[in-house]
Amino acid sequence: AKRAYVRTKPHINIGTMGHVDHGKTTLTAAITKVLSAADQAAYVPFERIDRSREEAARGITISISHVEYETATRHYAHVDMPGHADYVKNMLTGAAQLDGAVLVISAQDGVMPQTREHVLLARRVGVAHVVVALNKADGADPELTDLVELEVRELLAEHGYPDSPIVRVSGLRALEGDPEWTASIEALLRAVDDHVPVPERYTDAPFLMPVEGAITVTGRGTVVTGAIEQGTVAVGDTVEAVGQNGGFTAVVTGVETFGKTMERGEAGDNAALLLRGVRREQVRRGQVLAAPGSQTAHRRFTARLTLLTAEEGGRRTPVVNGYRPQFYLRTADAPGRITLRGADTALPGETAEVEVELGTPLAMRPGLGFAVREGGLTVGAGEVTGVLD
Ligand code: GDP
Ligand code: MG
Repeated sequence: AKRAYVRTKPHINIGTMGHVDHGKTTLTAAITKVLSAADQAAYVPFERIDRSREEAARGITISISHVEYETATRHYAHVDMPGHADYVKNMLTGAAQLDGAVLVISAQDGVMPQTREHVLLARRVGVAHVVVALNKADGADPELTDLVELEVRELLAEHGYPDSPIVRVSGLRALEGDPEWTASIEALLRAVDDHVPVPERYTDAPFLMPVEGAITVTGRGTVVTGAIEQGTVAVGDTVEAVGQNGGFTAVVTGVETFGKTMERGEAGDNAALLLRGVRREQVRRGQVLAAPGSQTAHRRFTARLTLLTAEEGGRRTPVVNGYRPQFYLRTADAPGRITLRGADTALPGETAEVEVELGTPLAMRPGLGFAVREGGLTVGAGEVTGVLD
């Protein structure tokens, strides 16, 4: 039988962000390695976190990896993402619901373009707490590292993170078992424990979980994975799929987190739900599973849309009425058409009131954030202001 997940500590969702090659995946592996010594994590090697190459070779896009660990006071789910585009999508859509982030910056390279972009994204999507891992400190000149630290402080203060702890670490050396750098990872985790508070969870609201993926388990049924956005779920509950191909209901026959059975999944948890009588093809990434009758799908909505500047990674030229980019809401993405309200064009850097018509209906509510992308660029970040039909 499977082990049960015992909820003894508050659960927190964090993730690494930062410029490519600054050591996010190495650090993620190192955290599990260091904590495995105290039995607070199962060691997850680099190759198992960074599956991007292997998956890319097989033509599968894996955009997010989850690892699990505990400190003395918390249980953490930690996400690491392979590429910059995955960050942008997962963060802006809220698919990665981060209570806090570990910003990884190479002490040898300093602040780079994706470092800036991720700080900006974190601010936009409401990641309230950032802890900095000044990584690769093993090979960095301490005086140059002081300068990098000043630069980092300035960047963070500029974006509303004036009191972020900055910890000098070496993910690589810790992974190799070096005691000094192992201690640096412990210091980083203490900083995360201290700096990222336990957020308020909406456990009393109706159950809602955006679908990240689904697999068939022979002889058992279809397992649907995702992060629970609000409410709770337990074996025996009926859930309804809303969104593209939605409309069916199913009974939950199993609730798990990281391979362990749970009595009850709660807002903030990463969950795998076993659904009876559902075929794999019925479930799609982008649907939501919800308490029956609590959610409806819509194709049209009004929104406030901020177009990113070229500096922020956005467009150089204005968008015009009838513009058709791709929309990312929670785990869903769908094409859509934008009608500007009271204007013919909107410039990068501007915030516009718009009306959107999606190619497929999606579950949504006022206040929901979304990203707008086009040809590999994130061109805008928006918020639903009203749901039409
Ligand atoms: P990511 O793209 O941010 O996930 O970066 P990776 O974790 O893949 O690391 C990129 C490269 O930096 C690899 O060659 C790592 O071995 C190296 N690296 C990562 N962490 C450290 C560190 O603490 N010190 C040193 N010297 N190299 C590191
Ligand atoms: Mg990586």
